[in-house]
Amino acid sequence: MTDFAGLKALVTGGASGIGRATADLLAARGAQVAVLDLDPSTVEKPLLAFRADVGDDTSVREAVAAAVAELGGLDVVVNNAGIGAQGTVEDNDDAEWHRVLDVNVVGMVRVARAALPHLRESRHAAIVNTCSVAATAGLPQRALYSATKGAVYSLTLAMAADHIREGIRVNCVNPGTADTPWIGRLLDKAPDPAAERAALEARQPTGRLVSADEVAGAIAYLASPLSGATTGTSLAVDGGMQGL
Ligand code: NAD
Repeated sequence: MTDFAGLKALVTGGASGIGRATADLLAARGAQVAVLDLDPSTVEKPLLAFRADVGDDTSVREAVAAAVAELGGLDVVVNNAGIGAQGTVEDNDDAEWHRVLDVNVVGMVRVARAALPHLRESRHAAIVNTCSVAATAGLPQRALYSATKGAVYSLTLAMAADHIREGIRVNCVNPGTADTPWIGRLLDKAPDPAAERAALEARQPTGRLVSADEVAGAIAYLASPLSGATTGTSLAVDGGMQGL
């Protein structure tokens, strides 16, 4: 993979799971990386850490400005922070719908709005949004979460169209179930965590969960000059879940 030497990247939700694996991979490939997270306390050098809540516009604007000032510019945005929600449409009330849509969808819009003026100054500008198989797979018990990721998918296509003539590419990755602290928390709540894990593994034709590093690899590709002619696409990293 072409390395990221000289490139400056921002990763939201970069303190854990997919975001952390991505931040570490980009840094290992030579990027200067700033992590924005609700809790950046575990983020270590060479990563730069900024506390931010993507659910709050002021917080995002301040953190992006501080990160860009410290990085000295911005080339890559990995819009990855997100939260889960379980249940059918009967299980989540309006307040929960607004809360999860606000973080998962409007959060990405806030970060993009704050980042776009800086990306326009870059000669290699790329945004990668973390979407999900949930956007298109029709997963049971994930109505709200799936709706947020469907919106992220559409947002990716619309942003790609809006910004390609400014030299800014926008793509997304669609992970299947990935082995991150998020899934650990989900399994901890299950009546039989081992059986639940086996069911999640069986849902993917590879018979195993996707690793955070595998998703990070796909994000890095879409962020790198190797994908310089690619915009408005989604890259599945789902163990064959949607393709078979
Ligand atoms: P994770 O819980 O391990 O990490 C998420 C990170 O986002 C955490 O560090 C958390 O502090 C941060 N975060 C949450 N809310 C935030 C907010 N309001 N502002 C700033 N930071 C916030 O989760 P993960 O599994 O690595 O998931 C990362 C992304 O991948 C999410 O968008 C998720 O929807 C998506 N995804 C995950 C899976 C999976 O199976 N793990 C599958 C498909 C898509």
